Amino acid sequence: MIAPSVVKVAVPSPLHQTFDYLAADDVLVAPGVRVRVPFGRGRVIGVAVATAEGSDLPLGRLKRIDTVLDEAPLWSPEEWRLLLWAARYYQHPLGEVLSTALPALLRQGRAAQMEGERRWRLTLAGGKLSPADLARMPRQAALLARLQQCAGGCGNDELGAMGGAWRPALAAMRDKGWIEEVVMVPEAPPATPAIAHGPRLNAAQARAVDDVQAALGAFEPFLLEGVTGSGKTEVYLRLIEAVLERDAQALVLVPEIGLTPQLVERFRRRLTRPVVVLHSGLSDSDRLRAWLDARAGRAGVVIGTRSAVFTPLERLGLIVVDEEHDPSFKQQDGFRYHARDLAVLRARGADVPIVLGSATPALESLHNARQSRYRHLRLPERAGSAAHPCLDVLDLRRQPLEEGMARPLLQAVEATLAAGDQVLLFLNRRGYAPALLCHDCGWVAECRRCDAPLTLHRGRNRLCCHHCGAEQAIDTVCGDCASTDLSPAGRGTERIEEVLKARFPATPVIRIDRDTTRRRGALEKQLARVKRGEPCLLVGTQMLAKGHHFPSVTLVGMLNADYGLYSSDFRAAERMAQLIVQVAGRAGRAEKPGRVLIQTHHPDHALLQRLLREDYAAFASAALSERQAANFPPYAALALIRAEAPAVEPPRTFLESVARQVRQLGDETLQVWGPVPAPMERRAGRYRAQLLLQAVDRTPLQKILQHVVPQLAQLPGARKVRWSVDVDPVEMI
Ligand code: ADP
Ligand code: ZN
Ligand code: ZN
Repeated sequence: MIAPSVVKVAVPSPLHQTFDYLAADDVLVAPGVRVRVPFGRGRVIGVAVATAEGSDLPLGRLKRIDTVLDEAPLWSPEEWRLLLWAARYYQHPLGEVLSTALPALLRQGRAAQMEGERRWRLTLAGGKLSPADLARMPRQAALLARLQQCAGGCGNDELGAMGGAWRPALAAMRDKGWIEEVVMVPEAPPATPAIAHGPRLNAAQARAVDDVQAALGAFEPFLLEGVTGSGKTEVYLRLIEAVLERDAQALVLVPEIGLTPQLVERFRRRLTRPVVVLHSGLSDSDRLRAWLDARAGRAGVVIGTRSAVFTPLERLGLIVVDEEHDPSFKQQDGFRYHARDLAVLRARGADVPIVLGSATPALESLHNARQSRYRHLRLPERAGSAAHPCLDVLDLRRQPLEEGMARPLLQAVEATLAAGDQVLLFLNRRGYAPALLCHDCGWVAECRRCDAPLTLHRGRNRLCCHHCGAEQAIDTVCGDCASTDLSPAGRGTERIEEVLKARFPATPVIRIDRDTTRRRGALEKQLARVKRGEPCLLVGTQMLAKGHHFPSVTLVGMLNADYGLYSSDFRAAERMAQLIVQVAGRAGRAEKPGRVLIQTHHPDHALLQRLLREDYAAFASAALSERQAANFPPYAALALIRAEAPAVEPPRTFLESVARQVRQLGDETLQVWGPVPAPMERRAGRYRAQLLLQAVDRTPLQKILQHVVPQLAQLPGARKVRWSVDVDPVEMI
């Protein structure tokens, strides 16, 4: 007799383990197949990970698999290996990793194929009728009129939306042989004829396209460094055309904020094969459909945000990661993976080239290029004939300031508007003022649940916490001394907007930040106003730094560059430099080159100087040397173990025992820092602490984590905290 086979199943649970189940004798359950299994008091959908002859538990205690949901694994062997690798590397439970990789409807048990949709359509006899023939049966006449309008038939939900008692009318029409119900399998997304042709490539673009094209069919990573507007997207499009010609598919990852309708439209206009889009705003059924189209090879191109890196593709031929430096590629909670890093791994597994594109590459990527791990391609000039903007520092020290703006900046604004051009003012802070301050005693209104001041929002007339979302009425009396002399301290975009409106009453002021663009379509509307090109003042946050070109903007003012120069986060300077270059890149065109004024109290800051006197590459060299001296990535590997709880002590106590464990296992190449309180210790009512592990490279760090993490749940105090592991953290808070 053969032993009944045991299947190890990953279920969506925060536990770092799989669970054993028995399979029916005659079914083979392959890894990567979904199964419905009893779990706790209910049933869950999990994924089979492996089969085994036996189990650590007595077989009699194992439960049986209810249903096997898929005939074949959902992923190819390489895709499956990537998922397993990601779970291990990021120290995250496989069940949750697989949940991230699956569309919601598949997590809920929907079939992994296009389901036929039941629709009503007119029969031959029904097609000869006109609503006038049914004048005495108004419901049937209305249904007829509706069905005549949609050649592809109507679903019940569409007919139901007409209201009234449509079901009996529908049944009557069916009985008379006028309509019939059909099951329609949705067709593959339509292939569109390319309706636009690209411009002639310039020499640098052509070289980049040639180099990557020559690599098609094998793994090779490329770093495409090209200033904003240098035609990187044009390079991607040419490469994708070549990939489609070989009947392969392309995967394009973009930051959340970069996935604009304009971008998708540009791809659709140029490419003949279907382009499907994956982002968080999709309905569940659209997401499933896009996923299935990708997996079955019906889609030629998949454009998506972070989690699209897990989309199965039948014939992957190329991966592109646009704006590869963007921090949004790293998930900041739950399964903390980095989509760019996984994309490189995926390309290697699938043996295809990958292009990482940016005007301001991450220091990690530049380092890889310097080490010849990536081939470095450069587009040094703006495409067409647009000129580079010129960058200047505006030394704020001892300058009289008018609402945070120095006189030379205001004069430049005036001159630009007078010339009929547009101005963009950038400030990394939304709201009216970052604090409400008591003039008599210095008290500041703070969030009750966070160690942070509340931001004053004038328009909504509220004090809001930008960390936990709490809101309250605006205090009128000081919480300490009962004085009523409270005033807004500092400036946000809302206040700058007010100031500009008062000072330039004849010019429209357009504010673009998360508060003014919450409503769907609001951002597009604002941008359309700017694109019309009439003089205007544009005020906004980093929402303005990506994905849009503003050719009529000829002056950019960065109101406060200081805040990135001195920060506890070792990546702050890199972020600031990227922001400056990206914002600067929004401005100007051939006949109207842009000018950028950067306000700072630290004009002599070494890194800022390198950036402004030379360029981003010079900045990056200097910043990399600093990283090397301080033993920070890319010259070291980091992991951050965080813990939080409603009281101060438990996170620290827990992390202290973690630190002891790690120190016991580690050697002198591993450093353990902390535990220390998080930079903002209390957030949303929870106290947070963290432990930083720093190693010379990934391998020893991974070894320690593989050992320690599975034991964390058993450490004393583990139950009193919520803990998490962040491998290669990008936010140190
Ligand atoms: P990036 O992705 O680097 O910001 P894009 O590919 O969007 O650059 O190109 C910026 C602008 O320049 C677009 O309007 C694009 O159509 C145009 N462009 C790109 N390449 C060329 C070229 N070789 N000749 C003329 N215009 C070009
Ligand atoms: Zn006071
Ligand atoms: Zn708060």
